[in-house]
Amino acid sequence: MKLRICHLYPRELNIYADRGNIAVFRRRSAWRGIDCEVSEAGLGDSIDPDAHDLFYLGGGQDRDQALVAPDLVATKGDALHRAAGSGAVVLAVCGGYQLAGHCYTASDGSTLAGIGLLDVDTVAGADRLIGDLALEVELDGESRRVVGYENHAGRTRLGPGARPLGRVIAGAGNDGESGFEGARRDRVVGTYLHGPLLPKNPWLADRLISWALRRRTGRDPELEPLLDDLEAKARQVAVGRAGRRSG
Ligand code: GLN
Repeated sequence: MKLRICHLYPRELNIYADRGNIAVFRRRSAWRGIDCEVSEAGLGDSIDPDAHDLFYLGGGQDRDQALVAPDLVATKGDALHRAAGSGAVVLAVCGGYQLAGHCYTASDGSTLAGIGLLDVDTVAGADRLIGDLALEVELDGESRRVVGYENHAGRTRLGPGARPLGRVIAGAGNDGESGFEGARRDRVVGTYLHGPLLPKNPWLADRLISWALRRRTGRDPELEPLLDDLEAKARQVAVGRAGRRSG
């Protein structure tokens, strides 16, 4: 069994240590004896939709997004649509989430076209939504609390083709109004959660790993449970901070 990951724009999109999500995929696979192969695709690189089962797009500031957006559309958009259409996992965080949608309009009024993998649109608001965030997320019939940190100007609205990743318990989420955070379509997941996202949310990391392995093998892998004591403590701290933010 091998987990094949493609890390998109690792140099340009790595705000708030988003690269740490890749470290989690590597570690949680290695602890279970699963090989994990991470390829990187940067500016100008084309990607093979069948060579990887999980594609990862981290977050970045507006200027990083402006650098990668035209390249994403020109050299990787079609392949990502093909990959997602055949069950590949795509995880897109913050700036990456915005570019996985139809477009992002920055506060200076300029608009960056995204790849429309998620039916969402983002427009920057007058202020930034910053702080710890807690959500209730349901995946594969299981419901869990997911925590992280948000810092974005963008307000993201979901179209009919996307459903939210979760319901906000504390924090702002997609737009500070709808009560929703992130977006999903099949195994494509967009979220504003940094921190990075996965070290504090091992349940979510394991769901994504399972989905990716399932695409390759055609069946649900048995993922051995891991002792997640440290992760649980980190979650508690984040839940406490998010709770104080809303109170
Ligand atoms: N440019 C985006 C915003 O501020 C993304 C920020 C980020 O990735 N942290 O809305």
